[in-house]
Amino acid sequence: MSNAPFGLSRLKQAIPGARAIRARDGSHGGAAAGIVCSFERARLGWFWSTDSEGRLNYISDHIAEALGKPVGQLIGQPFATLFELDTTDRPSQRTLPFLLGTHTSFTELTVSAAGHPEGQWWAVSGLPQTGSQGTFLGYHGHGRDITETLLSQRDASQLAMYDSLTGLANRHHMARRLETTLTAYQAAKRSCALMMLDLDRFKQVNDTLGHQAGDELLKQVAQRLRRVIDETCEIGRVGGDEFQVILPDIDDRGTLGELGHKVITMLSQPYSIDGARCVIGASVGIAIAPYDGLESEDLVRSADLALYAAKGAGRGQYRFYSSDLHSVAEERRQLEEDMRDALANGQMRLAYQPIVSLGENLISGFEALLRWEHPERGDISPALFIPIAEDAGLIAALGEWALRQACFEAASWEGNARVAVNVSPIQFANVALPSLVASALAASQLAPDRLELEITESVFLGEGADTQAMFVALKKLGVRLALDDFGTGYSSLGYLQKAPFDKIKIDQSFVRSSTEPGNRNAAIITAIVSLANALGMETTAEGIEARDTLDLMHSLGVSHGQGYIFSRAMDQDKVLELMASGELELHPDGPSTHRSGRKTLLRKVGLIHEDHRYDVTMRNLSKTGAMVEGLIDVPLETPFVVDFGEGQLAVAKVRRSKGQRQGLEFEVPLISDGADGLCTRHRVSPYMLAAAGMPLGALPPGNYPLVGQGQNKTFSLPQFAQVDPAGESRRVV
Ligand code: C2E
Ligand code: MG
Ligand code: MG
Repeated sequence: MSNAPFGLSRLKQAIPGARAIRARDGSHGGAAAGIVCSFERARLGWFWSTDSEGRLNYISDHIAEALGKPVGQLIGQPFATLFELDTTDRPSQRTLPFLLGTHTSFTELTVSAAGHPEGQWWAVSGLPQTGSQGTFLGYHGHGRDITETLLSQRDASQLAMYDSLTGLANRHHMARRLETTLTAYQAAKRSCALMMLDLDRFKQVNDTLGHQAGDELLKQVAQRLRRVIDETCEIGRVGGDEFQVILPDIDDRGTLGELGHKVITMLSQPYSIDGARCVIGASVGIAIAPYDGLESEDLVRSADLALYAAKGAGRGQYRFYSSDLHSVAEERRQLEEDMRDALANGQMRLAYQPIVSLGENLISGFEALLRWEHPERGDISPALFIPIAEDAGLIAALGEWALRQACFEAASWEGNARVAVNVSPIQFANVALPSLVASALAASQLAPDRLELEITESVFLGEGADTQAMFVALKKLGVRLALDDFGTGYSSLGYLQKAPFDKIKIDQSFVRSSTEPGNRNAAIITAIVSLANALGMETTAEGIEARDTLDLMHSLGVSHGQGYIFSRAMDQDKVLELMASGELELHPDGPSTHRSGRKTLLRKVGLIHEDHRYDVTMRNLSKTGAMVEGLIDVPLETPFVVDFGEGQLAVAKVRRSKGQRQGLEFEVPLISDGADGLCTRHRVSPYMLAAAGMPLGALPPGNYPLVGQGQNKTFSLPQFAQVDPAGESRRVV
């Protein structure tokens, strides 16, 4: 062996547990060398040494083997070029050439063979050697194979950080990651968004298809999330069917809204699980630091609230956090509590909306719609309280009451008009539903073919044998079945062939948008109608309000219609009166065209002009502009900054001005807030306003700790007269 002398006493210091090697300095023979040899032969470890240039002058045989070169070829090579530091666990570790170049001692560094980062790892240590004059002579060192320990350690830390089912980060890891990101970003004034995601109807899949199917579904959800979400973002599963995404450096609510929408659409596509098809949905809540919370705890709470609001609003939606969601959540809790006694206290009733045959405009039946008369709040919409009832486990009792009451009341109508009753997917999943229907029919003496059950397509989510058996059992009773809200969520014409429906109800959003220019819904409705005709089913267009919609539906061959153009829902007394009169024709009455876009509302906003902030009332709002009221005689082209609150500022110009009303046009259009509303893409923090030289007197009310106080600035005088809320105008100048 051409290996150079080996300083054993120094070696002894370098190897933990190598105390057995007893020898005099400089010796490389005798017992000590023998021990070194047997240590090497047993492959317990290996040794190396370099000259002052860092070139190898000794290396154990078996490590040379592992590096794939004979010892002879390795001698003379720079040690630092043969190995590579593994930085997985210590990203900021100095490089090997740096350590060796600065003659630094090192212990237990994890390295792998240069160019082969995966496969085998060693822990290497090295001690710089100096001569009597303090001159650097080279390194002595040793190494040992740690591949197995490292792999099992990594497995264990993988387990500690990742969710074993989906491979996504787990709750603990997400919490830490959010914490460190937010701390780092706070100093750098960077923004970070947090998306909370919850699967809709996942519990039902678990219950109907079993836990194994549920697990498989979660895996597929994780795969889809990885596909839509950028690699720079961290995705985690933080609960049974709850996911979280950390999105660094994003505060554009336009981009986030689009992503939220994309995630929901992707996750709502059907899944194939063990050959069975199933459909679920997703709701998303979004909060952005620093606006909606600086600390991770606050940001998570904000995103959670936004998610809660998204679910409360009917699911399959995204919501941004806003401070008024606190009251929404409180309101929901209160409603849930109040609903527990609503039935017993006689606060629920049914209202009936006519369903009309198009063309003749004759009433063929009524849809029974629940009405809750709250003692303090007045009528509450079922669109609000049905989802709460479903979550709170109250839907079974409420649904049973509605079914029995509808059958009972319809039985007293003169003639043969049908009654349609909405059935929640939760009721549909209950095997006792057919016997409940049978009992309601028997008790009321209503003919079975006068009862129509309206079912939404979400009942197909499991598509198991149970769903089919339920259809068969219900049809056996002689009742009619209608597919409700077709055109929302994931609609498949395939459903129509599989289930024995007597009617398809085309959803109102789908119906109303069909008259918009360039919209393809009309073509789709034609396809639905022809398939329905071929299968002997009726079709109903829901939510017809305008003449043009009615004419289009009629011309597309839709057989029935329902909507305000014919009638709103009416009380039982009114139905009895109408049916007794025998006058079954309803004359359409509504606007000639359906108008979308501009919304009327009354809301206080601030208008900032130069150094002044005026309070005005916003009368209507669209993406591109708003009509405000409260300033007198404002010239055209006057620039304003509209303050919608919560840091939402929009630059606008006066385009129309008459008396105390101004039409404003925004420089950058607003975007959808996921709900019915609009919001600005970006928000401005008061710090930024101040930094941008915005006059402090014009800042919206609030607490601005960073804004310098006592600045000696003279403010300009207000230029416009403001009309105060009492309606009297006062000149402020
Ligand atoms: P749905 O089954 O799609 O019922 C139609 C909804 O559209 C009703 O809202 C009706 O008032 C409304 N509507 C009808 N024509 C028009 C129109 O021309 N324009 C507009 N803008 N709306 C129109 P409502 O009564 O608020 O009910 C909302 C939803 O609540 C229903 O949607 C149904 O899904 C659910 N619901 C109502 N009653 C029950 C019930 O007894 N059980 C269950 N499970 N759900 C119910
Ligand atoms: Mg319905
Ligand atoms: Mg409907």
